[in-house]
Amino acid sequence: MEWKEVEGGWTRTGDVEEDRTWKPIHHLAGFGAQDSIDRFWAEHPELNPERNIAGFGSDEPRCQWCCKLFKNSHGMKIHLGRGCRHKPVSKKGSQTERKIRRRKRVAAQARLPKVRIGAAELKNHFDSLLLGHSVEAGGEGTHAVEIRGAQAKSTFGKLMHLWDNDDLWLKTKLLLYQSGVLSVLTYGQEAWQLTEKIMTMLRGWNARCLARITGRTVREETVDPTFDLIKSIRVRRLRWVGHVLRKPEASLDRKALFTYKRPYPEGSVLMDVPPHGDIQELATQAKSREKWNVIVNQLNCQNLECRRSETRGEEDAS
Ligand SMILES: [Zn+2]
Repeated sequence: MEWKEVEGGWTRTGDVEEDRTWKPIHHLAGFGAQDSIDRFWAEHPELNPERNIAGFGSDEPRCQWCCKLFKNSHGMKIHLGRGCRHKPVSKKGSQTERKIRRRKRVAAQARLPKVRIGAAELKNHFDSLLLGHSVEAGGEGTHAVEIRGAQAKSTFGKLMHLWDNDDLWLKTKLLLYQSGVLSVLTYGQEAWQLTEKIMTMLRGWNARCLARITGRTVREETVDPTFDLIKSIRVRRLRWVGHVLRKPEASLDRKALFTYKRPYPEGSVLMDVPPHGDIQELATQAKSREKWNVIVNQLNCQNLECRRSETRGEEDAS
């Protein structure tokens, strides 16, 4: 296992798991201790290497992580059942693991064949920032949301004196939260893939901030948030889709929307549009601003959490 410098940090080559299992003292030979071991046996002829250390290893009730010896296998079972402190923790799914995986992807991207313009060679970039939205080569949209989340969290931290101010009404604090913090978070949200995973992430993010403002628990703010962030994003997206569909045919964003083909990908910007045949039909529906506003208001009045469980139920039934 060795560390190698890559663009933007260090990465570990070869994912060799560190072997932490118990080995008899013979493994000390690897550290140049063989001479000392030989001398020890020579000085103690009453001891027999075969008899006195042969027991190490397979049968004896010894914890393989902390090397503690137990009276019987039952004792060891209890120890393992309680969880040995020295047992290595799995890093799968952790923040560290995700960061390392991302670094590997960035390095892999850099190794791919390069594009040339004349004599100039273009650099391979794993991600690029476009109008405040991070576009990744991997296609996974979580990183873009994580970046905005970190930026908004920093803003939230700077306004801590407001959240702790007892002279301000809760309503005022929530308005400040929406205009000062959520505006930073949701910048460029039209480009997000609002998948179930990202919605869960945002729900937790919102709940942690709201809990600090309202004094309720994070769990309470997750189940029944004081301000429903997911709904506000989805309502804004639906309003935006209507706005783009009403634009002249030559406009770029309208053209981009017309490239969508059914079935739309999970969490696309068209996730809440009313039933329609193709996108042209949807554009016809959107022509009347008043009618589209009714659809948007309907979504605003709905309890999206209920709707989510209903659709899940339908999926289960089908
Ligand atoms: Zn142990």
